[in-house]
Amino acid sequence: MNNKVLGIIGGGQLGMFTCIAAKKKGVKTIVFSTEPQFSAQKFCDNFIISNFTNEKNIKTFFDSADYFTIETENIPISFLKRIKKKKILPSLNVIEITQNRLKEKIYLNSLSNIHTVKYSEINNYSDLEKSAKNFNFNCILKTQEFGYDGKGQFKINQENLNSFKTANLKNFILEEKINFKTEISIIAVGNSKHLVYYPPVENIHSNSILRETIFPARVNNSIKNKAMKNAETISKDLKLNGVLAIEMFVTNNDQILINELAPRPHNSGHWTIDSCKFSQFDNLVSVITKEKVNQPEPMKNCRMINIIGNDYLEFNEISSKYRAYDYFKTKVRPSRKMGHYMVFE
Ligand code: ADP
Ligand code: MG
Repeated sequence: MNNKVLGIIGGGQLGMFTCIAAKKKGVKTIVFSTEPQFSAQKFCDNFIISNFTNEKNIKTFFDSADYFTIETENIPISFLKRIKKKKILPSLNVIEITQNRLKEKIYLNSLSNIHTVKYSEINNYSDLEKSAKNFNFNCILKTQEFGYDGKGQFKINQENLNSFKTANLKNFILEEKINFKTEISIIAVGNSKHLVYYPPVENIHSNSILRETIFPARVNNSIKNKAMKNAETISKDLKLNGVLAIEMFVTNNDQILINELAPRPHNSGHWTIDSCKFSQFDNLVSVITKEKVNQPEPMKNCRMINIIGNDYLEFNEISSKYRAYDYFKTKVRPSRKMGHYMVFE
């Protein structure tokens, strides 16, 4: 039993599963949520609903916990910097790189044997015009910050380019749109002394939202090994302390390109709750409390399927057949992740 308190910034489903894992270990939690109703509410010991500027609430939150973690990288760094003497995992340096797509791409390409898709920095229409031409008008415009589930992304082609003439294009990047063979991801968790890696899983997206994760990924061993090496290079270079999800594209000629990094538990790691002896959330809490981080020990092949938008209307039927998780969101919105379920093979 540990009587320290874990502060979690963000109370969505990732915060919710972190609270559940903390409770199993007897660690108390307090959630800082900008939303009045949030998934973690039922599972945390305490919470504060506030924006990132209310001094009184911020102070109460920072005074109420012994260590802190995040469930999203989209948090103002100025807010996180105020956690002075106490520990925040992962480190601010890792959050700063991963919350900005341009910084992240520059960082990844600076590492030896790590590659990404071709990209360019965009700050105005003339940048967009030039770069789109370079990428043969087959590209994706992305905001540098605050994107998730495909939000802040626009496919650019010769026909629609003109419509961006009047848009404010400051702080964007343009990526070449590639025809990948498969998308995979690896989750790393641990600290500078001991890192463990969850085996690669395959991710199926539609409209840029994760629909399904398949364990194990249907790729050959040589690709798996290359992917593991990439994950190791990045996690070690970042001196990871916490969880890092590494999203990758496998190209048609079996090259690995890193798509993006997330310094927190990841949707493509939800399969680890039911199919591994130690989930991404269990191990995150272990890193935070300085307990032993365990090898995942996958037990069974599986598919994790997201329940998105109106699919949620079938939740009762789904949960009568499958192991299903409700994220307790008060409103169903199109493209909103409402829950997930597991299919075991
Ligand atoms: P998000 O933060 O929304 O997850 P991503 O950059 O991972 O943003 O994009 C979401 C999905 O869109 C990816 O998983 C992939 O399926 C598709 N996608 C993103 N960038 C590219 C690209 N350059 N080429 C091809 N597909 C892409
Ligand atoms: Mg992504």
